[in-house]
Parts: sequence; C-alpha cells; structure tokens
Amino acid sequence: MKPLPPGSMIGVLGGGQLGRMLSNAASELGFDVCIFTDEHDSPAARVSARTIVAPFDDRGALEEFARHVQVITTEFENVPAATAKTLMDAGAHVRPHHHALAVAQDRFDEKSFFTSTGIATPAFAAIASQDDLDAGIAKIGAPSILKTRRFGYDGRGQIRIMSAADAEGAFERLGAPGILEAFCPFEREVSIICARSEVGEIAFYDLCENTHKNGILSRTIAPSQANAATNVAARNAAKRVLEAFGYVGVLTIEFFLMPDGALIANEMAPRVHNSGHWTIEGALTSQFEQHIRAVAGWPLGPTTRVGDIEMLNLIGADADRWAELATDPSARLHLYGKRSTRDGRKMGHVTKLTVRED
Ligand code: AMP
Repeated sequence: MKPLPPGSMIGVLGGGQLGRMLSNAASELGFDVCIFTDEHDSPAARVSARTIVAPFDDRGALEEFARHVQVITTEFENVPAATAKTLMDAGAHVRPHHHALAVAQDRFDEKSFFTSTGIATPAFAAIASQDDLDAGIAKIGAPSILKTRRFGYDGRGQIRIMSAADAEGAFERLGAPGILEAFCPFEREVSIICARSEVGEIAFYDLCENTHKNGILSRTIAPSQANAATNVAARNAAKRVLEAFGYVGVLTIEFFLMPDGALIANEMAPRVHNSGHWTIEGALTSQFEQHIRAVAGWPLGPTTRVGDIEMLNLIGADADRWAELATDPSARLHLYGKRSTRDGRKMGHVTKLTVRED
C-alpha cells in the first residue's frame, strides 16, 4: 500500500477513549476518521468526521464502512474474527493483521505464542474442566491464578487460588474455558510500547512502570527504574513479536519484572495502550500519532522521551476532581467525555512531566 495522503479516511473499530485519542492524532496529520461502534454517542464519535453505529456482525454496515475508508484499524483486541473476515472480503486493508488480534484475544494462545518465540511466561495450562484444574494445580502449584481464556481485562474473570482447597468448584465459578497461571511474586510491572511500519522499520518507547489497583492500571511512570539489561530484554522481546506477525501499528507488551531480574511476559495488546498515554506530552511522537503513521503507511516518528513522567488514571469518581486538577500547572488533564461515571470506569488521565534542565 502506498502512503495514504492527507485527506484520506481512516477507519477505527471501537468508539472508546483510545479511538478518541487516535482520532485526534489522525486529524493533526490531516486525516479524517470514521468510527465503527455499536455504542451511540461514544467518546470517539464526538471528535470524528463520521461514525457508523451498528453491531459488529452487521455485514451491510461493515461493507459500507469498508467502502468509505482507505485503511481500517482497531482500538480494541476483541474484534470478532467474522468481523475482520467480512472487512477483508470487502477489500479493506485491516491493520494490524487479524492473526495478531486473534492471538491476543485468547490468553492461552497468547502465552503459547510467547513461548514459541522464546519469550518467558508464567507456567500455564489450559483448563476446560475441574479435572484439568486439579491436574493443573498439581503441576503448577499454588498460589496460582485461574483466568478466563477470552474477554478478561482489567482483572475481570480471574480467581486467585491460594491453596489447593481454593480450587474446589473454581472452574464452575469461572464459568468459561480458562487458563491456570503460576502466580509471579514480581518486583515491578513494566510495559513496552513499540511500533512497526509497513516497510519493517521498528521503534520503541522507553520502558515504563505500572501500578495497578483492583486489576486496573492506576499509575505509570517513565522511565522505569529497571536496569539497562531489562530494557534490552524488553526491546528484544518486542522486536520478536513485531517481526513474527509482520505487524503494522503500535503494540504493547506487559511484563512482570522478577526479583532476580527475569522478565516474564503477562500479555500483549495489539493496539495503543493506557500505559502509553504519557507519550502525548512526554515523547516527540505520541503512541497515537505513531499508530496512525504506521497504519497509513507513513514512516515512524521519533520516540525520544522529553522528560520524566508520571501518568495517573482518573477512575470513576476521580474525574469529579477536574476543576481542582485544572488549576494544577504541573498536571496535563485529559477527560474522555464519557456521559456517565461508574466505579472502575476510566474517565480520564493526568500527565505530570518534569523536564530536566541539564
Ligand atoms: P491481567 O488481566 O492478566 O493483565 O491481570 C491484571 C493484573 O493482575 C496484572 O497487572 C497483575 O497485577 C495481576 N496478575 C495477573 N496475572 C498474574 C500472575 N500470573 N502473577 C502475579 N500477578 C498477576
């Protein structure tokens, strides 16, 4: 595909805050965005040139979407395989490739993929019955975590197994095919945001460090306090994943950094990521612009970090503090325009940037 000229229409599947920030970045480069979402009045739709509201299995609506855009990308990984197929059959360029989306949708396939590319993961086993769970615990031990294979995010669909006794009835409580993972007593959680262009150019952002509360990202700092060897290991892992998929776009990998320095992959997101929001103010090219550049067939932009960063998520009622945050000169405030506040809902974020003067 030739680089898309400004004025082209980029399609984004999904209407959440990531779509909103992608749309803002696309408009900075002169593109228009068409959002495809099943949600009325979505955060992304309100900043985009066009929106199609329809279910993700509405063939006619998907074909119309494919006709109106020059490339299609996504802000979430759970794009149904049939949706991707309909779009490709309609002649659309879908980036990243549906294979990367499919692997990231299933925690067992994802961990198997990491293992096949030489990237360490927690010990894991597929769980399709209570017998599998009992056998898995005999092999992996406790503490361990039972997760749904699919549709789990922000800590949802997870059961901690602290001892073999906790396993009783746990498969039924999970209520879906699962994966059992060894619990990793990590020292830190880190993530790497990286990108690959159409012609195979690769760029990495500095490794960042994440704190979760109730399974939801709460705070990111960049750079991470991890040492140089960890940074190199994270970049090597990211490069292997990008190249294995012939990936085009931004991709994120989350790792556990263990006390002995081992880097253990937890999961990947074939998209821009909450732990990369700091790049809006904190890097020469934001993760959103980078993704748009990549899917539009443009060269990647520089990822140089311009200071030390702290990013704080505004979850649920945290966003009610907007007026106070707006008076804080050290805080760059981002609100996602969600119409209602719910516990655990990501409503916005704040980035604090300290530029070193040396
Ligand atoms: P996930 O949805 O897999 O990203 O899990 C959400 C959070 O739960 C992670 O960011 C970790 O803080 C924690 N967690 C998940 N899996 C493990 C594990 N195998 N060992 C230790 N902590 C975990």
